[in-house]
Amino acid sequence: MGVGALNKRVAVFLDRDGIINRNVMNPSTGIWESPLTVEDFEMMPNALIALRALQKEGFLLFVVSNQPNYAKAKATLQTLESIHRSLLHILSKEQIEFAAFYYCLHHPHGVVPEYSGTCSCRKPSPFYLFQARDEYYLDMEHSWMVGDRDSDIECGQAAGVRTIRVFNKEESDGADSGETHADFHADDLEAATKIILGALRTC
Ligand SMILES: [Mg+2]
Ligand SMILES: [Zn+2]
Repeated sequence: MGVGALNKRVAVFLDRDGIINRNVMNPSTGIWESPLTVEDFEMMPNALIALRALQKEGFLLFVVSNQPNYAKAKATLQTLESIHRSLLHILSKEQIEFAAFYYCLHHPHGVVPEYSGTCSCRKPSPFYLFQARDEYYLDMEHSWMVGDRDSDIECGQAAGVRTIRVFNKEESDGADSGETHADFHADDLEAATKIILGALRTC
């Protein structure tokens, strides 16, 4: 019996950059960042295999992603939209369906006024996870958050889901304190998926 047969649905919330698609080295800052052009948008190896396995098991899939590059005037809204469309296209070719894509476009220190300052949706806020819980009638205790930053793990913890920290050695931005302790650690989304599917057999 797949988890989808239960009354409440279970979900995997996924950070996007560094989990589903690769981060990109910004030579001017020396930091791995989200892609700034469609050309730079590239899937992580085995991400599609992992997503398909989660979907097959009945998990609802959600992207929860902070995308402040328009707020910071580093990308246009059209570029962010095209990158999203590119992801949608890749997923649809593989028959992978996400329940929703939640993007926070704000940044506390942005320069575009409508998108700058504090907001309620930027991770680590659990805002979107609660929205999904209410909208999709989710069993949060058996749902998961997978991300590569402290803010992803803190977001998952605040929402009461289990957390997996992906430590991407190749593209680590070194920006995190490492003081946020996830329930599990994995090298990539495929390894995280094995943890999630493994937990189904034991609980
Ligand atoms: Mg990330
Ligand atoms: Zn926001």
